[in-house]
Amino acid sequence: MIDTPLDEIPKINASLHATFATRKTFSLAWREHQLLQIARMLQENHKAIADAIYADLGKPAFEVYMTELNLMLDRAIISAKRVPEWAAVKNLENHPDLPPHQKGWKPRVTPTPKGAVLVISPWNYPLILSIQGTIGAIAAGCTICLKLSEVTSNYAGLLQQLIPKYLDQDAVRVVCGGVQEVTKVLEQKWDHIFYTGNGTVARIIAAAAAKHLTPLTLELGGKSPVIIDPEYDMELAARRVLWGKINNCGQVCVSPDYALVTPSTTASFVENLKKAYASFYPDGSLKSDSYARVINMQHFNRIKSLLERTQGKVLMGGGMDEKERRIEPTVVLVKPGDVLLESETFGPILTLLEVDDMRAACDYVSANDHPLVLYVFTLNEQLQQDVLKATMSGNLIFNDTFMQMDVKVLPFGGVGESGYGRQVLENTFNCFTYERTSLDIPPEVEDKIYLRYPPYTEHAFEV
Ligand code: NAD
Repeated sequence: MIDTPLDEIPKINASLHATFATRKTFSLAWREHQLLQIARMLQENHKAIADAIYADLGKPAFEVYMTELNLMLDRAIISAKRVPEWAAVKNLENHPDLPPHQKGWKPRVTPTPKGAVLVISPWNYPLILSIQGTIGAIAAGCTICLKLSEVTSNYAGLLQQLIPKYLDQDAVRVVCGGVQEVTKVLEQKWDHIFYTGNGTVARIIAAAAAKHLTPLTLELGGKSPVIIDPEYDMELAARRVLWGKINNCGQVCVSPDYALVTPSTTASFVENLKKAYASFYPDGSLKSDSYARVINMQHFNRIKSLLERTQGKVLMGGGMDEKERRIEPTVVLVKPGDVLLESETFGPILTLLEVDDMRAACDYVSANDHPLVLYVFTLNEQLQQDVLKATMSGNLIFNDTFMQMDVKVLPFGGVGESGYGRQVLENTFNCFTYERTSLDIPPEVEDKIYLRYPPYTEHAFEV
């Protein structure tokens, strides 16, 4: 990865605005071609991409294909097919709320590209989180500055080489580097900022955006809870929760962060977590090819320190290999107020907290920041409805973890501390367009609207 020279950044911004002003990105043919080029880039370089992500995160190639590459390939192709429909002018002449005399006024809404936009992506799902925003922005007809995370430098370096080869360099530019470079990028005026990352930096981004009144999408994280109904099959719950936890070694915005269990189920849940662990990693996880590692020493030490400071009881795992930056999936039973309940763990720790009943579980979730996802294991429909009413979260998933990422028809995003705005396919397109309205009022209707002209007289009230 080569850091973008700071003096290049204003030039990149100016050139993206200049390209947008030519309106070349408005063309549907241009958009479709660029989207298919993204698909081609992913297809022709899948191995190099998987290798780069492995070098950064130790993420197994299978996981890269299953949870990132195939999804983006599919979504680039779908977007290319669907963009004419998404971008089509919407005629509201037959809208049920339109009074008959306004029918001939041609009320229309045109999804219109916002302009030169900025996509800032994080390290934890480097491919999906850089490409999904880029797909949406291209589909929308914007020009794009893609700021890649410096933390995944192998992936960033690869994309720095690939994007100019596959995409229109007048319209899609990559910026690499750290805080200095992002700060310079944020000094520029953008027409939309799409940021994925943590809530602390989100506040810096939002403050910078406010200076230019730039609209924002904030895809953030937080602590995603799991609620487990004591009536649910503990073996299935444990397997599904553990699978969600081990993905990318827990370094996922939708990773189950902590589980709320009733005291009567703790032992059985943990027993089944151990059983699932043994079947996923018969030779242990620390040397397994099916388990990613912690991104860097800073995060390794952060997670290690959490495990050192917790007052909780480690019921599973806890082993680590510092040289390899590996930490076993670790289950810790804690009491309220424990350090593990304070902030997003973003690592392979599953915290267990005992609650009296399902009502207390909902109360606990409600008393904390609205999570990105709330997972609930129950077949009880009444309980499902109760949880829906009693809590708030960006997404609410019953009886599994993580699978919402594969369901491309659902809008994805947070609420409150977990962010705002929605993405995936048309929803990402919507982030980068605004609904431009138009009317065309014919001369012939003058006699129907003459009442509006002053001088205002009594007959104006004869409705
Ligand atoms: P990160 O450290 O890679 O930062 C993200 C981006 O912000 C990078 O491009 C980085 O250069 C930039 N940045 C870092 N410090 C900055 C600063 N001081 N000023 C301006 N820009 C700065 O990634 P991260 O924030 O550690 O990512 C992990 C977080 O992202 C977690 O909280 C996770 O839950 C969240 N996340 C959310 C989603 C979602 O879709 N909702 C997806 C993935 C991750």
